[in-house]
Amino acid sequence: MTDQLEYGCDVVVVGGGAAGLSGALVLARARRSVVVVDAGEPRNAPADGVHGLLARDGMPPAELLERGRGEVRSYGGQLVADAVTGVDRDGPGFVVALAGGGSVRARRLLVTTGLVDKLPDVPGLRERWGRDVLHCPYCHGWEVRDRPIGVLASGPMSVHQALLFRQWSADVTFFTHTRPDLTDEQWEQFAARGIAVVDGEVTGLEIVDDRLEGVRLADGTLIRRTALVVAARMVARADAVAGLGLRAVEHPSGAGEHVPTDAAGRTDVPGVWAAGNVTDPSAQVGAAAAAGALAAAQINADLMAEETRDAVAAYRVPFSAVAEARVAGLVAADRGHGL
Ligand SMILES: Cc1cc2nc3c(=O)[nH]c(=O)nc-3n(C[C@H](O)[C@H](O)[C@H](O)COP(=O)(O)OP(=O)(O)OC[C@H]3O[C@@H](n4cnc5c(N)ncnc54)[C@H](O)[C@@H]3O)c2cc1C
Repeated sequence: MTDQLEYGCDVVVVGGGAAGLSGALVLARARRSVVVVDAGEPRNAPADGVHGLLARDGMPPAELLERGRGEVRSYGGQLVADAVTGVDRDGPGFVVALAGGGSVRARRLLVTTGLVDKLPDVPGLRERWGRDVLHCPYCHGWEVRDRPIGVLASGPMSVHQALLFRQWSADVTFFTHTRPDLTDEQWEQFAARGIAVVDGEVTGLEIVDDRLEGVRLADGTLIRRTALVVAARMVARADAVAGLGLRAVEHPSGAGEHVPTDAAGRTDVPGVWAAGNVTDPSAQVGAAAAAGALAAAQINADLMAEETRDAVAAYRVPFSAVAEARVAGLVAADRGHGL
């Protein structure tokens, strides 16, 4: 496997989730040679279904990606199950190093490595993540509608999350946890929307028969809740491309770190595009896939522009050579006329 990968291609896609596979599909259909390197840890792996995705609503995340890989392969795209450990410049292109050994050369890079959800430091949250510990109302709101929902104050978006989840349930409780600093305006909003506020640090979850039954406070009180919303800190996975100078910076929302790009996915590093959660932490599967497709089209246009420049340069005979050729032609012609 390692030796077979010592070759070049038009584009290496780093990360084979919704954004990466969608980009690879567009590139492969554009008759570009494309290699997708994927470590196989999509962000929504703990969830049982992808919700809110038109025509695929509720499909298990693994099945969606398997279908995507099949589509990429059907157009000649190559998929490598491995992790990218680093990327270096190689003239105008790149050398992409793999954890399993070997490397792939590429003219352009599409970075779609997603993000890591850093959960608040409360025991038990990770085990229930994506099941009854949730973050996104558009992913899970329908599934927990009309249920007793808790919202843990754990980030700058927590108040916003509580107000949003109120759309799905009239029984929402906000746990101030370690952030008991609601403003007067927020108190008023919660009161007006009928959102209860519970003070005190949350120290654990009550799980019965593999289901969330309640939220435990430091003083031992148990507040019955069957879903708990948390604000994970969303941190872009950008280590693999740090060698190119591409770094994650604080996202303007304060919700985490992302790799900045322009609207079409172009990063500050020439030849490198990024799409999906690595640059847009709020992108759901549909938005991540769309961003991957858009970036892929931009990459194809960029390659086309380079190829056109090269072709024109090769097509043009330097002026001096043209002049010499003309003179030689005239001399030959004159001789032919016996002058
Ligand atoms: C619990 C949960 C439930 C969700 N439910 C929904 C839902 O119902 N509907 C919805 O639309 N959205 C949902 N989302 C959001 C969804 O997960 C994202 O929109 C989506 O995963 C973004 O796709 P992506 O391709 O940007 O990143 P990812 O899907 O995370 O894919 C990134 C891929 O890159 C790989 N990778 C990372 N680093 C490297 C490296 N160095 N080398 C090689 N590969 C690498 C990873 O292993 C991964 O496979 C949910 C999120 C969570 C956390």
